[in-house]
Amino acid sequence: MTVRAQARVNVAAISRNVATLSAAAPGSAACAVVKADGYGHGAVAAARAALSGGATWIAVVTAREAEQLRAAGLTEPPILVMGALSTEELDIALAARADIVVWTEGMLDAVSARGGGRVHVKLDTGMGRLGTRDPVRATGLVRRAEADPVLELVGAMTHFATADERGDAFFGEQLGRFTAWVGELRAAGVNVIAHAANSAAVLRDPASHFDLVRVGVGIYGLDPFGVDPAAQGLEPALELVSWAAAVKPIAAGESAGYGRRFVASTDGWVATVPVGYGDGWRRGLTNNAQVLIGGRRFPQVGTVSMDNVTVDLGPGTGVSTGDEVVLLGARGGERILAEDVARALGTINYEITCGLLPRVPRILHADGAPV
Ligand SMILES: *Cc1c(COP(=O)(O)O)cnc(C)c1O
Repeated sequence: MTVRAQARVNVAAISRNVATLSAAAPGSAACAVVKADGYGHGAVAAARAALSGGATWIAVVTAREAEQLRAAGLTEPPILVMGALSTEELDIALAARADIVVWTEGMLDAVSARGGGRVHVKLDTGMGRLGTRDPVRATGLVRRAEADPVLELVGAMTHFATADERGDAFFGEQLGRFTAWVGELRAAGVNVIAHAANSAAVLRDPASHFDLVRVGVGIYGLDPFGVDPAAQGLEPALELVSWAAAVKPIAAGESAGYGRRFVASTDGWVATVPVGYGDGWRRGLTNNAQVLIGGRRFPQVGTVSMDNVTVDLGPGTGVSTGDEVVLLGARGGERILAEDVARALGTINYEITCGLLPRVPRILHADGAPV
């Protein structure tokens, strides 16, 4: 162990997860979503792994994210920038030859005025964020893009608000609105790539797949439904690993950490592990997480500080200074999922990996082999 805490990212797992999701949406192209630095896994590595797993499109949210991928040598695949862009950001996105999402006439005009580009028209079928709510206006935008010689109409899209809430009716309502709009476009002979599905929708309903699926969370082996990725055939691609930097006896009545939130009830041992909220291991995990050492589960105890956490090793311990400590990952039949940590914090798995800060180096490997 050469660094205090590291995120080990298995790019081969990302490739396999893309293949798994693609197999669930046969006949649709796979667009790998690598926004927010690939959900914390590393955007460039995630994009490369996704392409080798069969993705043919990449999606990000910001113009800079598109620029970064192009600069890293991803010159070929179409890159869709899904976010709202200021005029300055639009310039950056177009310079990166990215596809732009539009939902007003002014946005089409702005792309046109900059010499043109590839556009996707977004219908807001109920997410209530970006896109026009009006299918008539959306069709008008499609027509306007088609008629403009410097614009290339590429896509017609929407985004689901509740795809991950199995059994809710709103998903069907959104899907119905989008299906009707796409049906009208097709009937009018418009040639466009229709896309709507995120990872949850891919697994939930084939009727949502259309021509292309935008898969994010699932390609990282995080469960779109927040429960267990293995149930979907998905493999977590990221492990968070640190080490026992100090192993010390603790007497009954002695404490560890700020505020004395852990006081030993019996004589025993405590390990100090150099990872904390300054690495993205959130303070809300105070007395609220477990770790794996030597394939055994131990409670993390006491306050999570900026740079360290403490682990209760119990009365008799085989743990030594230098031993590996796994905060996210599987060892010896035990596993700690991002979903488990998310549940403890009252959040979602997305936020656990996205929340790992730059102080944690991302170490890439392919099933253990260096890349
Ligand atoms: C993030 C995002 C996705 C991917 O969603 P996942 O739930 O991570 O699969 C798809 N489409 C849009 C518009 C997004 O912002």
